[in-house]
Amino acid sequence: MARKLQITVNHDLCVGNAMCETIAAKVFILNDDRQSEAKYPDADTEENILEAAENCPVSAIKVVDADTGETLFP
Ligand code: SF4
Repeated sequence: MARKLQITVNHDLCVGNAMCETIAAKVFILNDDRQSEAKYPDADTEENILEAAENCPVSAIKVVDADTGETLFP
């Protein structure tokens, strides 16, 4: 079973270019202020979520194992 992820987007950094939404559209949704929100953290594979985080140009996305607290990205 896939592990549970805790995903946070730092809105002080997010520039709203929607790269994360392009890569993992079921997880990341841009709000009305063009700030990404990880609305559905269970909606895609860990691989895709990490790829989205890696491709954020301002490193605004943090991914943590929700059970162990282990940082998976960055
Ligand atoms: S890729 Fe990064 S900067 Fe772009 S919308 Fe997503 S969180 Fe914001």
